[in-house]
Amino acid sequence: MAARILDGKVVAQSVKDEVRAAVASLQYQPGLATVLVGDDPASHSYVRGKRRDAGEVGIRSIHHELPASVSQEEVLSLVDELNADDEVDGILVQLPLPEALEGEAAVQRIDPAKDVDGLHPFNLGRLMLGHSGLRPCTPSGIMRMLDFYGIGTSGEQAVVVGRSFLVGRPLAMILSERGADATVSVAHSRTRDLASVTREADILVAAVGVPGLIGPDHVKPGATVIDVGVNRTDGGLAGDVQFDAVAEVAGALTPVPGGVGPMTRAMLLSNTLRAAQTRRS
Ligand code: NAP
Repeated sequence: MAARILDGKVVAQSVKDEVRAAVASLQYQPGLATVLVGDDPASHSYVRGKRRDAGEVGIRSIHHELPASVSQEEVLSLVDELNADDEVDGILVQLPLPEALEGEAAVQRIDPAKDVDGLHPFNLGRLMLGHSGLRPCTPSGIMRMLDFYGIGTSGEQAVVVGRSFLVGRPLAMILSERGADATVSVAHSRTRDLASVTREADILVAAVGVPGLIGPDHVKPGATVIDVGVNRTDGGLAGDVQFDAVAEVAGALTPVPGGVGPMTRAMLLSNTLRAAQTRRS
């Protein structure tokens, strides 16, 4: 295996250590509110993890669970309550909401100053303008990981496969902004000859949700490959990248699990700290 393995657990731990130290120096305890609607097992497990992470760094976890039968108005009024609560610095509505409810409307109801997922249009707008602020956790986690391993982006060709508002598009924006200075292409399901596009990449990010979509033929020798995909398969969790085969070609590669996932979780804590410091200063 040629590729260096980029260990998300190690980098996430360094972020958590930083957040824990900063929280310990505050005169107050930052609070993170989680809102979980319905009984999707994956969502329950994600929220459990986020609450445990919060506890580990000294952030207070305030948890609300609502049944799948709840109305949109009830979800919005809970968000209103949390917006008004001074002890709550960050609000996370776990998506997706059950089918009858609108996740986007719930996220838009969150006070942008408490939007620790960085998905409110106000914060996405700031990102588009190149302003600092609360940014989506997965893209910021990827940038943090590249930085930790000394993988520069300036002048590099980056290809992001996937154009979701959650990962692909904000990441493309961040990689291309001043300071990061990559030249970025965004590929998606309509991209013609995906392999010829991805083979141009010095930094290749797969955020697709198709297990093993990216094989060795998609990768330029020596490239950094970031696998965002989390796919439940019969063989367990799988990424979008064929790990063993791509490791023979890539220069650096993230595993699944243990790559981008822990970074996403760590950046939520970092955003909660930031929201608390900004709100309470
Ligand atoms: P999404 O909203 O479903 O977007 C998937 C994107 O992939 C779309 O832009 C789609 O193109 C594109 N796509 C689908 N099939 C393709 C193909 N054959 N070739 C090229 N592009 C293709 O998904 P998402 O929310 O961004 O999540 C993507 C993956 O990352 C999922 O596995 C998710 O579980 C995972 N994820 C992981 C983390 C983490 O922390 N590790 C965080 C978030 C998401 P179109 O736009 O043309 O449909």
